[in-house]
Amino acid sequence: MHAIRHSIALVAHDNKKVDLVRWAEFNRGTLSHHRLWATGTTGTILAYELGLEVHRLLSGPVGGDQQIGAKIAEGEIDMLIFFWDPLEAQPHDPDVKALLRLGALWNVPMACNAATADMLISSPVFREDYARNRPEFTPRAWDHTAGGPV
Ligand code: PGA
Repeated sequence: MHAIRHSIALVAHDNKKVDLVRWAEFNRGTLSHHRLWATGTTGTILAYELGLEVHRLLSGPVGGDQQIGAKIAEGEIDMLIFFWDPLEAQPHDPDVKALLRLGALWNVPMACNAATADMLISSPVFREDYARNRPEFTPRAWDHTAGGPV
């Protein structure tokens, strides 16, 4: 029984989409209890192949990675499954880095391959109301007289 409903973001680069679909198929039962977000094409495939309900964002290269990053910054994403391609350069490499950076910054559990994703989703704390430590950042004060940060 899954009383806790997490928000899970899923992203896979083209060469890793088959891996992600296989992983999601194996974990379909668990995933179906959670709120799923995905970049455009990844989400389309997960919905079509597995019948999962997925909130689809823009495709990664045209802003989808940034949309997920923004959701992470706003505290809306509890876990990121991001199968990025270690063997092929991506046109949106800055967005890929930005997404990984925000995930690390906001202490979001992240998996970049199936083995780690298996461990995350089968972790006992995944089934509990794990209180992830979320850092607090406040805008820096600005000294208008000196024209610099206080
Ligand atoms: P896609 O985007 O799911 O729309 O293919 C993934 C990505 O390349 O970041």
